[in-house]
Amino acid sequence: MRKTLVVGNWKMHGSRPANAELLAGVLAARPFLADVAVCVPFVYLTETAATLAGSDIRWGAQDVSAHMQGAYTGEVSAPMLAEFGCRYVLVGHSERRAYHAESDELVAAKAQAALGKGVTPIVCVGETLAEREAGQTEAVVKRQLSAVIHTLAHCAAEMVVAYEPVWAIGTGRTASPEQAQAVHAVLRAQLQAATGRGDAMRILYGGSVKPDNAATLFAQPDIDGGLIGGAALKAADFVAICRAQAA
Ligand code: PEP
Repeated sequence: MRKTLVVGNWKMHGSRPANAELLAGVLAARPFLADVAVCVPFVYLTETAATLAGSDIRWGAQDVSAHMQGAYTGEVSAPMLAEFGCRYVLVGHSERRAYHAESDELVAAKAQAALGKGVTPIVCVGETLAEREAGQTEAVVKRQLSAVIHTLAHCAAEMVVAYEPVWAIGTGRTASPEQAQAVHAVLRAQLQAATGRGDAMRILYGGSVKPDNAATLFAQPDIDGGLIGGAALKAADFVAICRAQAA
């Protein structure tokens, strides 16, 4: 039985007062049946860790360097994240693939760097609208995941995967539960074939998940929770999604 995981991706949003209010709202709503985490901008990691200390709400970063240390101005390494207890890190988010030209190989190297330091990578995969319309969805997500599987080798079962169709992120356009389930099933089969533990791995859906569609999405057999962008910025919405357990 896979436990639902709901992860908030704050992207480049927040301020110290807004974060305090948001986290207070999430903390006040505990307990959750699901595992819950927030991935926050680097500068807020320490304060978020302090605010969530002693609770079961986990926290993470939105990116990590593939390098362990050195002359990489502006980057943050996996040892730095691990040093003070970071649990998760997003890698391969479509915004990083698109705006920072991150290749499948770089995403895989980042996942490897994170896992090597005990930080669980949440590996994001997903097709663009053009790729979907060209019938390439399966090939694209399999290629993206395959690079990470190949690099992580026997550790691949330790990652979390997030299927995020690019056309559904921040657009208000959600994949239908059936569309999402179909891709999740493909990804699970790929994970199972590669690791033998795919049945136990969590595959999240992301892309305009809201309180009113979360339960239907999470009820799909291969959807194990969500990666939530816009709706993770309002405590009431995020809490409602965290409570949208599969029946
Ligand atoms: C995301 O940023 O990963 C995301 C899914 O965003 P949104 O929920 O706003 O579509």
